[in-house]
Amino acid sequence: MRNIHEALIVGAGLAGLGAAIRLDQAGVHDVVVLERSDRVGGTWRDNTYPGASCDIPSLLYSYSFAPKPDWTKAWSDNAEILSYIEDVVHRFDLLPKIRFGADVVNLTFDEELGIWTATTADGITWSARSAIFCAGPLANASLPDIPGIKDYDGTKIHSARWNHDYEFAGKHVAVIGTGASGVQIIPELVEQAASVKVFQRTPGWVMPRPNLSQPNWLTGVFRRVPAAQSAARAAIFWGHEAFATALVWNTPVTALAERIGKANLRRQVADPWLRRQLTPDFRPGCKRMLMTSNYLPALQRDNCKLITWPIVKLTPGGLRTADGIEHKLDAIVFATGFDVIGKTGTPFPVHGRNGRVLGDEWATGAYAYKSVSVSGYPNLFFTFGPNSGPGHNSALLYMESQIDYAVRGVKLILDNNLAMLDVREDRQAEYNEKLQRRLATTTWNSGCRSWYLTSDGFNPSMYPGFATQFVMQLRKVILRDYDVVKRQPVTASTDTYAHA
Ligand code: NAP
Repeated sequence: MRNIHEALIVGAGLAGLGAAIRLDQAGVHDVVVLERSDRVGGTWRDNTYPGASCDIPSLLYSYSFAPKPDWTKAWSDNAEILSYIEDVVHRFDLLPKIRFGADVVNLTFDEELGIWTATTADGITWSARSAIFCAGPLANASLPDIPGIKDYDGTKIHSARWNHDYEFAGKHVAVIGTGASGVQIIPELVEQAASVKVFQRTPGWVMPRPNLSQPNWLTGVFRRVPAAQSAARAAIFWGHEAFATALVWNTPVTALAERIGKANLRRQVADPWLRRQLTPDFRPGCKRMLMTSNYLPALQRDNCKLITWPIVKLTPGGLRTADGIEHKLDAIVFATGFDVIGKTGTPFPVHGRNGRVLGDEWATGAYAYKSVSVSGYPNLFFTFGPNSGPGHNSALLYMESQIDYAVRGVKLILDNNLAMLDVREDRQAEYNEKLQRRLATTTWNSGCRSWYLTSDGFNPSMYPGFATQFVMQLRKVILRDYDVVKRQPVTASTDTYAHA
């Protein structure tokens, strides 16, 4: 006899935990959260590199329904965010719902019964009336395809799989990659290692981020007057919304952002040649902005050197650059990003109606209806789904609206005893046609290389608008956009619908 839950959630990061909380608050209690690791936290559990922190202020980078009045800084580091997440797990008593070590390897929809079944690596199956996909897009670290990468004999460390046992003191180290992760790691490594060589392929726009401590009096105010914290959060939100006019589209504000970026470079870097090497040749916003005040000073430390010659190959003792120099290295840090989940496939096979396989359909670039539903895969909801990335505001706002949409969908399915809530293919196509037209005029599609785009330039990642617009489009489930199929009576022998 099968135990069929009301909903199953894949992943216990911020999205999966948030979904479990919101489902519970909506009266859906029989929920199982499948987590491949032995700890909650998703990206904040995995990215423990020195200097890891969030470039969105904590008042905004936290659940709206679980405020924390006592953040120690305006922008929090990894440890504080992880401890917030773990605190939320206890506050909302989520542990009984989570199955750790449950690595989902397959997700299949049974059209007749209207249930999803997840199979985990240990062969156990988990079934539910709905599934919520909360495996974040940046969960799988990726090493670059550099010739000779297997030949290198020294220590290799990826930013998202940090080796805390490695002793950097006295070592000669390389950092490959100068994206959001690299610029946070480098200032920490120059404090520890004998030398740090920074291999930059493309310079990014660097903006100052003075990380102020939150004064005790403000924490006191937030504790006593929660409305004051909500007001501060709203102010930060609207401030970030305004950034869209600079970062999402090319406007006079973009030119202003460019001037600020160049002024910041002039202020922090005296040497004109270094400044030239660090000057981006694309519009601000095309790649993620680098919010840091200590990266540029770190590059100019005596034990640090920026190298812009292309890497030709890794050798047993280090790496060779195009100028013919062989750099001897004790360790190489790869801040080279991720094998982005859901951009051109799925992390495990997802089988929908009539034998459809989502990975095949997404092979050349993912798409969905409003980022949350995909036609042919009924009763399945995505968080961080296709085209839900922001470049200017907190990803958690987008995530929360997806969670609330999924909760509405799950409730519709349960309350109306539906077998299928399947978005219509024509409505999905219509949505994507408009979306891609709007994306064509954004900065992300203006010619730079970034993880937002597929190798042929298709953008399955970003939402071309304000956060407010994204949230508004997910406020209701528009039933006429879905095919709705009622559930046939089921026999107790095949299907026990268990409530917690
Ligand atoms: P990333 O943005 O993809 O940057 C990867 C870096 O590695 C780039 O500088 C890239 O150069 C370089 N690279 C990749 N392959 C290379 C190769 N074969 N040779 C030389 N250089 C190579 O990855 P990330 O820095 O880990 O950041 C990924 C995302 O994580 C961010 O966009 C952000 O969404 C998130 N993140 C957020 C925070 C935060 O504060 N909230 C912090 C860290 C990360 P090119 O630019 O030339 O491709």
